[in-house]
Amino acid sequence: MRKINIFDTTLRDGEQSAGVNLNLHEKLEIARQLERLNVDIIEAGFPAASKGDFESVKQVAAIIKNASVVGLARSKQSDIDAVWEAVKGGVSPRLHTFIATSPIHMQYKLKQTPEQVIETAVASVKYASKFFPTIQWSAEDACRSDFDFLVKIITQVIDAGATVINLPDTVGYVNPKEYGEMFAYIQEHVPNIHRAALSAHCHDDLGMAVSNSLAAIENGVTQIEGTINGIGERAGNASLEEVAVALHTRQDYYQANTRLKLNEIKRTSDLVSKLTGMVIPPNKAVVGKNAFAHESGIHQDGVLKEKTTYEIISPDLVGVKSNSMVLGKHSGRHAFRTHLVEQGYQLEDSDVNRLFELFKELADKKKEITEEDISALLVEQQLTNDEDYYVLSALQVQYGTNQIPTATITLTNTDGQTIQEAATGAGSVEALYNTLERCIATAIVLDDYRIQSVGAGRDALAQVYVKITMDGIVSSGRGTAQDVLEASAKAYLNAVNRVVNIKNSQQEKVSI
Ligand SMILES: [Zn+2]
Repeated sequence: MRKINIFDTTLRDGEQSAGVNLNLHEKLEIARQLERLNVDIIEAGFPAASKGDFESVKQVAAIIKNASVVGLARSKQSDIDAVWEAVKGGVSPRLHTFIATSPIHMQYKLKQTPEQVIETAVASVKYASKFFPTIQWSAEDACRSDFDFLVKIITQVIDAGATVINLPDTVGYVNPKEYGEMFAYIQEHVPNIHRAALSAHCHDDLGMAVSNSLAAIENGVTQIEGTINGIGERAGNASLEEVAVALHTRQDYYQANTRLKLNEIKRTSDLVSKLTGMVIPPNKAVVGKNAFAHESGIHQDGVLKEKTTYEIISPDLVGVKSNSMVLGKHSGRHAFRTHLVEQGYQLEDSDVNRLFELFKELADKKKEITEEDISALLVEQQLTNDEDYYVLSALQVQYGTNQIPTATITLTNTDGQTIQEAATGAGSVEALYNTLERCIATAIVLDDYRIQSVGAGRDALAQVYVKITMDGIVSSGRGTAQDVLEASAKAYLNAVNRVVNIKNSQQEKVSI
């Protein structure tokens, strides 16, 4: 059985999804969960992009003990230096550097001749090899590059010290047969290829990212890059959970496996979905709500008689559990803490205490507290952190069928100011948002608004997701509360606070 390394780029490529911006706490929580899932490599970000990105890569590298943490760099010494500074404290520091190799990218983007591109790539790998034990080099837009040019540049970067060669389908253009053939060609023609591992990185523009990744494995690749839930630039990346479960289920065919703890998949997927605001379609393979639902009578009958008649993946395998009551009003702090530990959460004492307060508040209003509620509370706790500029201190909404909805809001900000405003709207949420816009004194466009209940029951928590555009920046936000209007206000303010944070550390984003 061949071992396939899983390179997770949820925090880098995934974070480049339109409207997604994770704060430091959220990135650390995702990194911890990726470690529990047992991924081999975590790409934590692009340290040269901004101070915030640098800091988050550094902190991820500091806490992760069971995976290699990698940072992305262009072929520039200052980028490579930034990655080294960020990851050097990690257990297995690694660099991911890249340059575009397709004619279209070299001519229009880099404005360099092919010879200059080789020179730049070799110089950057040589420079990095002075301090990095592992160097991954990527040929951006490899699939639209001239294969003989790829052979030339790969041979030279391996000689310069690259130990992993990644050939991404940056624009999601090729099909499985073509992608596999590219790797076969490279292995046949690059004389020193045995000194490096091969890696695949696929985008899903034509819906072939997972199939292409599997085709790459059939053609000698030993590392797959992708994201949880397939999030990422444009149509996203290969879904790592789909690749891993496909290898597991079809071991007979692929003769390859990963070291992922498959029963951590569901929780990882839920966490990434909640923190990024990217909802999982119900029909999504492996993690969708309906992935294990048998609706047809014939199928149900078959599954009742023998599961494997229609079920090729068991829900248990990927950690899907039926939702049951876990804790109630009378659960004490100790039981609460024990439950968190059993569920695999690693939290500081102060976080457990804060979470316990939220739990008690909720238990007073809601009879049964489920696993979903607790994970919603955890997300809620991460949302309110010291980085927030605006804090909601009071909210009042008046609504009646014969009157104009009116909202009154009091906010405080970290400059110590108290802001109070009132406004009306055609509905309660509009009144609320008109008032918040007045408090913030900036034009804000609401691009998306979604409300969901956490689990079932009339007393369920409300979870609101919003997407806004403010000062030209697209941002998303989430809020959870028992009342839908309070959850709506929190989500909006969360999105606004993110814009304030982004403006404080302007970011540059790259794609490969
Ligand atoms: Zn990519």
